Amino acid sequence: MPAYEQHQPVFPGGARCAACLTFDFDAESGWLSRDPSVKDRPGVISQGVYGARVAVPRILELLDAEQLRATFFIPGWVAERHPKPSEMIRDAGHEIGHHGYLHERNRPEDPDQERWNFARGIEALREVLDVRPLGYRSPGWDLTPITLDLVRDAGMLYSSNLMDDAWPYVHPGTSVVELPVQWSVDDAPFFMFHPTYANRTIQIPELVYGAFRDELAAVHEWGGLFNLTMHPQVSGHPARLNELRGLMRALKSMDGVWIATCEEIARFWLETGSKLAR
Ligand code: ZN
Repeated sequence: MPAYEQHQPVFPGGARCAACLTFDFDAESGWLSRDPSVKDRPGVISQGVYGARVAVPRILELLDAEQLRATFFIPGWVAERHPKPSEMIRDAGHEIGHHGYLHERNRPEDPDQERWNFARGIEALREVLDVRPLGYRSPGWDLTPITLDLVRDAGMLYSSNLMDDAWPYVHPGTSVVELPVQWSVDDAPFFMFHPTYANRTIQIPELVYGAFRDELAAVHEWGGLFNLTMHPQVSGHPARLNELRGLMRALKSMDGVWIATCEEIARFWLETGSKLAR
């Protein structure tokens, strides 16, 4: 079996590693899609409201202070429910990507519902924000056999959903770039907590962000993509944001790392990187 191909440094500035900071702004939709009955449970819902009310403004302040641009994936329903923070994200110059409508976990046995969710999510971002998203991150990274066709048919530039590579790649026969993800660089498995509805453990911020920094250092050594996935409602709490600030500063201090939005990385890969990497 051939060894996994190690690409040469190909990113702008001779960087061997690209890094993107991504935030899935789910607010209440992550809870409601899992269990619609939580609409009558204000305590559960309040965890999502925190993301819109407190976390997004704080994260925007942090990104502004550190002079970094990020990608926010926003479900259409969240844009409708929380137009103000969604507009703040757009007006600060960050990229906005597609993240479903009500954060539905799409099912292979119901393609019509998935088509509706996909189209409605795009329409809501257009109606509320006048934004046409160029990338799609499926809620929960759940894809079905039709998902990538929907991304391609919508004329999108990239998908950020799959875990089968350490580098971006182009889906065969398309112009859709995949920006691979990993649960190990996602805040939700470590911090998302509810006695009934989610994990039953809460990790220590310093340890989790230490693991993220270790991953960044290792990706820097290997080369490839460091695609950090965060959620305002999860990571927008004080000690976690302090750790995120530390990670941002570590990122900026490293040589040979290209920090960019998902759109920038996908566009570069499609036009240049995939050819250099061969
Ligand atoms: Zn999400």
